[in-house]
Amino acid sequence: VSDPLLARLRDVVGAAQVLTDPDVLATYGTDWTRRFHGAPRFVVRPGGTAELAAVLAECHAAGVPVVPQGGNTSLVGGATPAAGEAVLSLARLDDLGEIDVVAGDVLAGAGVTLARLQETARAHGLRFGVDLASRDSATLGGMAATNAGGIHVLRHGMMRAQVAGIEAVLADGSVLSRLSLAGKDNTGYDLASLLVGSEGTLAVISRLRLRLVPDPPHRAVALAGFATLADLLATVAHVRDALPSLEAAALVREHTGVGAPLQGDWPLYVLFEAAGREPQELLLAEAVLDAPVPPGDAVVAADGPTQARLWAYRERHTESVNAAGVPHKFDVAVPLGALAEFVAKVEPGIRAHAPAARVITFGHVAEGNLHVNVLGVPDEAEHAVAESVLGLVAGLGGSISAEHGIGLAKRDWLHLTRPPADIAAMRALKAALDGRGILNPNVLFPAPG
Ligand SMILES: Cc1cc2nc3c(=O)[nH]c(=O)nc-3n(C[C@H](O)[C@H](O)[C@H](O)COP(=O)(O)OP(=O)(O)OC[C@H]3O[C@@H](n4cnc5c(N)ncnc54)[C@H](O)[C@@H]3O)c2cc1C
Repeated sequence: VSDPLLARLRDVVGAAQVLTDPDVLATYGTDWTRRFHGAPRFVVRPGGTAELAAVLAECHAAGVPVVPQGGNTSLVGGATPAAGEAVLSLARLDDLGEIDVVAGDVLAGAGVTLARLQETARAHGLRFGVDLASRDSATLGGMAATNAGGIHVLRHGMMRAQVAGIEAVLADGSVLSRLSLAGKDNTGYDLASLLVGSEGTLAVISRLRLRLVPDPPHRAVALAGFATLADLLATVAHVRDALPSLEAAALVREHTGVGAPLQGDWPLYVLFEAAGREPQELLLAEAVLDAPVPPGDAVVAADGPTQARLWAYRERHTESVNAAGVPHKFDVAVPLGALAEFVAKVEPGIRAHAPAARVITFGHVAEGNLHVNVLGVPDEAEHAVAESVLGLVAGLGGSISAEHGIGLAKRDWLHLTRPPADIAAMRALKAALDGRGILNPNVLFPAPG
């Protein structure tokens, strides 16, 4: 291809790192759920901060929009390009520095996968506070850009809580460096925090300084079955208060290919995980069984393989939903007091527009975060189904995006939980940092017109 921009990019990153083969482009242009598609103009894969800065300077000068992409595991179409946009793959920014066991942190390239960081941290007796089922592909840069949550938010918070510093490149190629080694740093606006959750619209994250936490030697996992949501919520509140070592309380709604590990079928299951310096098995069992209305049945696992089997019961949800069809995903949060009302109303609301739809709900119950997955939504009902789920969430005082971001999937509903002044402030920030609008221009804000 004799496009002058491509020639300049090949000079910057090497010919092998500018991809134009249509079959290869198609894989970068399709999201994990297969719901969103785009034909990127090209894919460019810089190998370090300097190359990334030069690539952005070239694209900025040429006015070519770029969509940053890490592991491409976004569940909201956040990393899917529109026609004419380029994909900026960060996968080669994969330097992982030495773990600093004294400071309890590490300097990592944006393209390092979560699984790699976890493995390296564990070898030093440490752990990373965020964990997700997409760990083998999701990158630290993508996780910061979406402020990913995952299974341990209850104990360690979301991605923002793990980020001690960020290096990022602005649309015009200038480099922001917030990688201070000092444990405390209150020097002006917290730009690192601003970039967390910005979905690739304000800058491209190149490196991160990330906090690590001690890896407790003892761990236990319990799966408990409940007859009603009220019983389930009462038990979760009890276990959370009784057990400071509680790390996870995941809601499992429908078992998916993995044999049910409890006797009998329960309409609702919660998977609890606790970790600490002393053995957790009895502590967790006691906390679960001492609840005011104990579960109908429960099993506790102290050994690794059984724990992994119980976790698979929860973690395979996303994959098996994807295998059954192209899902419409609603990652929402509602106040815990409104969870029962939400659960009672959400399915009838969906079926009013898509009578044959299949609804599969699971999530992170301690945060009121539900993943409502809807299969079999006819194209003509898409808008009404989204309106019904997200409108219900907003009416109950919840959030239309708990942890996956807005991406392409929810941009038209931003106004439901962000008032006009907030949206105007966000647009002003976007205009200030990316005046030409080349960074992921289609996500987050409503489509024009
Ligand atoms: C099986 C499965 C389970 C999941 N479980 C969870 C979960 O429990 N919790 C959760 O929060 N999410 C979950 N996700 C969603 C997804 O894994 C996360 O959103 C993850 O953070 C995305 O990382 P990524 O590297 O794949 O980013 P991508 O999908 O490549 O990109 C996501 C967004 O970040 C931007 N971006 C990527 N890299 C950069 C960068 N370096 N600089 C600036 N912007 C960038 C992109 O433009 C896009 O807007 C799950 C996904 C799957 C497939």
